[in-house]
Amino acid sequence: LQVEFEKNRELPAATADGSRLSVMINAGLAADTEHYGGGADGVGLFRTEIPFMIRDKFPSEEFQFQTYCNILKRFPDQPVTMRTLDVGGDKALPYFPIREENPFLGWRGLRMTLDHPEIFLVQLRAMLKAHRKCRNLRIMFPMVTQIAELAQAKKLLFKAHSEMQDELNDHFPLPQVGIMVEVPAMLYQLRAVADMVDFISVGSNDLTQYLLAVDRNNPRVANLYDELNPAVLNALNSVAQQCRQYKLEFSICGELASDPLGAILLVAMGYKVLSMNAANIGRVKWALAKVSMAQCQHMLQKALNLSSSDIIRRQLYVDMDSYG
Ligand code: PEP
Ligand code: MG
Repeated sequence: LQVEFEKNRELPAATADGSRLSVMINAGLAADTEHYGGGADGVGLFRTEIPFMIRDKFPSEEFQFQTYCNILKRFPDQPVTMRTLDVGGDKALPYFPIREENPFLGWRGLRMTLDHPEIFLVQLRAMLKAHRKCRNLRIMFPMVTQIAELAQAKKLLFKAHSEMQDELNDHFPLPQVGIMVEVPAMLYQLRAVADMVDFISVGSNDLTQYLLAVDRNNPRVANLYDELNPAVLNALNSVAQQCRQYKLEFSICGELASDPLGAILLVAMGYKVLSMNAANIGRVKWALAKVSMAQCQHMLQKALNLSSSDIIRRQLYVDMDSYG
């Protein structure tokens, strides 16, 4: 099977009846994009906190600019979505300790960078400079809970952009701007979001954690953390329906997209861009090529009416067996 997966890696992603899809990679270091093996339609999530985590102080604007440029240059004709710094929660910077009783409900992602515009602006300036050179960057904000946070983040982005244009004495376009949909509160604010951003990407890892109130890293409750939980699937389906209604571009970059069964359900919901760990590209393309869009939709309809992730998973295996 591994050999078959590898064969699929380089083929365009599509269902058996030819519906074209985009398969992108999640990355966090230049090395991820050097050794990933090809076959991706771009970078759906670049976790910028990773280059911050492996250093001993905040990286300079110049260092960040070089880092971002290196990634953008590797995908010259494809979109690269970079997420602004997402520290806090389980991601700590050794030189910026945050001690809290409930880190996942605390000062993380955009919450921290909005409180530290001096850190945020350096990153935005470095990103904009890299975009000016390569033009294939998209910027995405993590952990957005309130519309006001998004408005504030955009204000800082515009400020950085106008300062950059003045400093460099050059006019260049803003990159596309989007947010992660990973806090359940966002499920009820997509109409307002649609007026403010170019795209959203669902972070199903955190969305699952917050929707089910299950710590994504706690082994004691690991059996309760399941992205195939019917509540999660219904939430993901609702995001897709709302985005279509509000004409908002949507994609997904959580682990569910790396799971062939998850990918099939997502495609049935209307997700056409799936971003995943590079190691799973071949596997996911292989599974998608085995089923038609109608079969995906049939599997989804059944899954949405079942009562637990175990039952859903079993049913999906049965269906795959009968189609494959
Ligand atoms: C997510 O939350 O689903 C996600 C993609 O981001 P991270 O895993 O980095 O929190
Ligand atoms: Mg997340």
